[in-house]
Amino acid sequence: MKTLLVTGGAGFIGGNFVLQAIADGLRVVNLDKLTYAGNPETLASLQDNDAHVFVQGDIGDRDLLQRLLREHRPDAIVNFAAESHVDRSIDGPAEFVQTNVVGTLALLEASRDYWRELEGDARNGFRFLHVSTDEVYGSLGDTGKFTETTPYAPNSPYSASKASSDHLVRAFHHTYGLPVLTTNCSNNYGPYQFPEKLIPLILHKALAGEALPVYGDGRNVRDWLFVGDHCAAIRRVLEAGRVGETYNVGGNAERENIVVVKTLCALLDERQPLTDGRKREELITFVKDRPGHDRRYAIDASKLERELGWTPSESFDSGMQRTVDWYLAHQAWVQHVLDGSYRMQRLGEGAAA
Ligand code: NAD
Repeated sequence: MKTLLVTGGAGFIGGNFVLQAIADGLRVVNLDKLTYAGNPETLASLQDNDAHVFVQGDIGDRDLLQRLLREHRPDAIVNFAAESHVDRSIDGPAEFVQTNVVGTLALLEASRDYWRELEGDARNGFRFLHVSTDEVYGSLGDTGKFTETTPYAPNSPYSASKASSDHLVRAFHHTYGLPVLTTNCSNNYGPYQFPEKLIPLILHKALAGEALPVYGDGRNVRDWLFVGDHCAAIRRVLEAGRVGETYNVGGNAERENIVVVKTLCALLDERQPLTDGRKREELITFVKDRPGHDRRYAIDASKLERELGWTPSESFDSGMQRTVDWYLAHQAWVQHVLDGSYRMQRLGEGAAA
């Protein structure tokens, strides 16, 4: 059975990835600091599963990393751990540099030292996969798409910190030979997303019949990818990606934010109409735009399709339906995030163990 060291596996994408990997028969050592974005409840179904070892700790903790690598001897490392919310990076960039840059550097150094000690097949097969974002490429005009060779031009403290980490990952390959892979993905949505991000935030407020805040004129365009498809892409790159390469991951589903919000409104109206007869679209309220808000992202994921045969399985419509149905069926998960009780949950060993 293969063992993965997954960082940030109690977050949105990492949590989905861990659940999928374990269902597919992999063993996962899950290192997560459990910041506000880490949610043990996402992993509750793995509580008694020996294939999952949860460790609360920081990717910047070199002693802990060394101990985990020696003890668990992973075949690969998948780095999801990050501060991930653009608005929070505008209010306080330092934490983003600390985890996304300094933390990733510590993880890279520990991984390099571990990899150097491996021999034979273990050494040849080892991979360090870094999960990154399309936001590193900056903003597009009305046409064109980001490819793997688009120059980096990050515009927010979040994307600047992710860009820095991507460069470090690249440098560790070129300088030390570490067998790295990087994926740059568009906006994800789906189960277990923290309700500060657009889709779960809108779903929560729309269910409650509250005003639905939309930045600026709502015409900012993002490409949307169902989280399960992103996880499958990462697994595919891990299995067959060419060492040292980067792969763009996208859903071929560019939509204006306002279209996303109206889609969610319509799906909720169908499933659970408001009792006072209002249509949820009436709740949309345009609010002051985010400073430096990138206008358009679009991703060309043809390299991943051509080289590794990956394409998304969900369309925008089917993915949105699945997401709305998941949130309706998991209101307790959302409620525990909103009332803060998710932070009381505990899983596995603590950092000091
Ligand atoms: P998230 O904020 O939901 O989860 C991040 C996880 O990392 C949390 O569980 C948190 O506790 C953990 N973490 C934070 N700092 C840590 C540290 N110092 N040490 C260990 N764990 C730490 O984020 P997400 O949306 O799941 O994103 C995961 C990764 O994917 C990030 O690297 C992000 O940049 C990237 N990404 C996200 C999207 C998206 O749409 N959400 C798109 C492309 C790429």
